[in-house]
Amino acid sequence: MKPKLAVWKFASCDGCQLTLLDLEDELLALAGLVELAEFREATSGAVEGPYDLSLVEGSITTAHDAERIQEVRRASKALVTIGACATAGGVQALRNFADVREFVSAVYASPEYISTLATSTPIAAHVRVDFELHGCPIDKRQLLEVVTAFLHGRKPGIPSTSVCFECKRRGNVCVMVAHGTPCLGPVTHAGCGALCPSYNRGCYGCFGPMETPNTVSLTRQLHVLGMDDRDVDRVFRTFNVRAFEEARGADA
Ligand code: SF4
Ligand code: SF4
Repeated sequence: MKPKLAVWKFASCDGCQLTLLDLEDELLALAGLVELAEFREATSGAVEGPYDLSLVEGSITTAHDAERIQEVRRASKALVTIGACATAGGVQALRNFADVREFVSAVYASPEYISTLATSTPIAAHVRVDFELHGCPIDKRQLLEVVTAFLHGRKPGIPSTSVCFECKRRGNVCVMVAHGTPCLGPVTHAGCGALCPSYNRGCYGCFGPMETPNTVSLTRQLHVLGMDDRDVDRVFRTFNVRAFEEARGADA
């Protein structure tokens, strides 16, 4: 019997699920090791649980999803959340800092048909999560590491350091020091391989706050570079807005 792998979608853009299909060279080998029991992005077939490993993408934004994630948890031996939506509430958590009714009436032609919660929350706010894989989207090498680790019953080897570590390892010239370009690398979880700084751009914080982010120190540096409080709020309020706001609140 192969272990059953299930992939679930909540409020999200599907980009993290697609990372699994984007494994290219490794996908066939992985498909040989597991039974793809539930993965609507790849197959309309579905196999009943329990599932050995569930990968959950997306945040909780409706009352129905808040119930559905409980069912997913009950049916899953191990549950791993993938991506900024599932681990931090995603960009849709901008609603947490505003009035969601204003967004709904601005976006939808018939807002009276929209039934939504006032907040977007990560999966871990609702059920026990065995591992969180960060990124918007997640990195495919890290996804492969997490899936194989769970299949072999070991801890995933995912570093909890910052993007600066990856950046220095690649031998990049620091864009913040050399060019005065604002960069969230010092407070952002490693995983992307310092993609943006490698192309002379500042880090946008796609992977969310690293384990011990010093947002106070980075904010001071962003002010030195000419950003006012509003600019600083805006760079932190993107894909991982909820997690960065929590980190900034803890540091204040
Ligand atoms: S984390 Fe980013 S890529 Fe993944 S589902 Fe959410 S918005 Fe899409
Ligand atoms: S460019 Fe950004 S990520 Fe790279 S070392 Fe400088 S601050 Fe860190």
